[in-house]
Amino acid sequence: MGSRRDYTWILGLPGFRVTTIEGEDSETQSRLRVHLERRGRRYPCSGCGRRTTRVRSTKERTWDDLPWAAHSVTLVYQQRRVSCRRCGIRTERIEFADAKARVTRRLRQQIGVDCQSMLTSHAAVRHRVSWGKARRAEKAFLAEWDRTRPKRQPRHIKLDEIQRGKGQRFWPVLSDVVHGDVMELRQDRTEVAATELLTDELTGRQRAAITAACTDMHRPYLNAVGAVLTHAEVVFDKFHVLQHASAARDDVRRQEFFRAGAVMREHGRGKRWLLLRRWKTVRESKRVELQTLFAANRRLFKAYVLREQLDRLVDLQNPTRCAQLRAGMDPCPAMAATA
Ligand SMILES: [Zn+2]
Repeated sequence: MGSRRDYTWILGLPGFRVTTIEGEDSETQSRLRVHLERRGRRYPCSGCGRRTTRVRSTKERTWDDLPWAAHSVTLVYQQRRVSCRRCGIRTERIEFADAKARVTRRLRQQIGVDCQSMLTSHAAVRHRVSWGKARRAEKAFLAEWDRTRPKRQPRHIKLDEIQRGKGQRFWPVLSDVVHGDVMELRQDRTEVAATELLTDELTGRQRAAITAACTDMHRPYLNAVGAVLTHAEVVFDKFHVLQHASAARDDVRRQEFFRAGAVMREHGRGKRWLLLRRWKTVRESKRVELQTLFAANRRLFKAYVLREQLDRLVDLQNPTRCAQLRAGMDPCPAMAATA
């Protein structure tokens, strides 16, 4: 066996030295209990960081650490309670671990990085810790990342929502559209929550830098953006606009076929999903079916073409092409095929 000095060097925790190492063998794994002691007799206060020699009591604490080859490692240390001149009675600050954490910072970092590409339960098995420890380490890792990541001044933001759990539970999400970064979220889709999101999470400078805010057509979000970002343009998301156009097209189908007597109703039966599809995704045989329908009803055809044109219009980036589309010089494929 090596000397304590060698073990201290291998462990590599500045300010601490190894006093003893015990091996524990069980059927499934072997574990090293590494007993540590702080170098010197002065202990830092967890409040202000000042070192003091005035120790009130000690208590044994353990942390999981990175494994040594095939052996899991537990660090054991007698943590002091110190009497600080400035803060009163406090626990001793431990440099290699977060307060109250059960794993060292370097193990937390490894678990956190692994959790970005695998399940928490898999990371827990890999690092030989319980699921709970792995989950807490992952959360602490993400909190640290959130605290230290660069604060951007996005010009284009998005206020949208994600569905959480089952049912109609939506959370508003504020994100930077260009970098695809989530900036913050709330648990409530009201105007108050959206306003808070924009005022509390963005600094005055960040708000001033925003030139466009993309939202859906949810009225509380529109009000919040209008009230807080007074000089930013409101942009509607393409998919939300097209959703309304599709609903309108479906409404025309209902009016033209289902409220127009038994003969027409029979004609339009079972065509709903076909009519909701975009022309470019419809197969050849189904296109013939659509064309028969359009021949029977021009209003339906018009509704279909309008939706198709809108779809193309929002994708166009060139103003000349937009003008051509508006002037009818650029008929959409559905129109060309049917006319
Ligand atoms: Zn203190």
